[in-house]
Amino acid sequence: MKITLIGPPGSGKGTQAVRLKEKYAVPHISSGDVLRSEVAGGTDFGKQIKQYMDKGEIGPVELITKVILNYLKENCKSGFIFDGFPRTVYQGEELGKIETLHAAIFITVSEDEIIKRITGRRSCNECKNIFHVVYNPPQKEGICDNCGAELVQRSDDNEKTVINRIRVYNEETKPVIEFYEKQGLLHKINGERNPDDIFKDITAVLS
Ligand code: AMP
Repeated sequence: MKITLIGPPGSGKGTQAVRLKEKYAVPHISSGDVLRSEVAGGTDFGKQIKQYMDKGEIGPVELITKVILNYLKENCKSGFIFDGFPRTVYQGEELGKIETLHAAIFITVSEDEIIKRITGRRSCNECKNIFHVVYNPPQKEGICDNCGAELVQRSDDNEKTVINRIRVYNEETKPVIEFYEKQGLLHKINGERNPDDIFKDITAVLS
């Protein structure tokens, strides 16, 4: 299975990717997680991209694309669930040079909903499960129900950065939707529903 999940920040790509990974036993690659681990590791590349990530910008796209596609080549030879990549048509073209996708799942959600979701989001850095302080609170505050690790609020999950992330999505990532539509790979899913219903629709597409 070689698929990508596309959608604005907070559309539920990460939530669905974790479920899909469990169901199909295929690696989940979140480009944001790959980049955040470079920042956390203090690598030269991490230092270079941190300022862009803090602002919700794409940054040096050719370099970032190389790093993520190298990660793909090394870790996901027989399949992958991409989440957050491609984010630009250039990235889609570069991915297309080395892999053939089976589907691009486009999860839709309104801007008002994005802001509510992102500002209350709490993430588990260990098992990648995602919670929300109001909509999906963990049983014990600040602790992941699944693995017991501490939940964190991402530094870019604030209202100011999210507005910029939405702008970047509208300008850079929306054209990727058309890119996959033209290739007959796009499947549009309404992301403003219960995660179980969204998951059912995605698995129906994939089967
Ligand atoms: P995400 O975890 O997908 O919300 O991404 C967080 C941040 O990482 C984004 O705002 C970008 O700064 C950066 N990022 C993630 N994926 C990509 C990508 N495919 N290309 C460039 N930057 C990315």
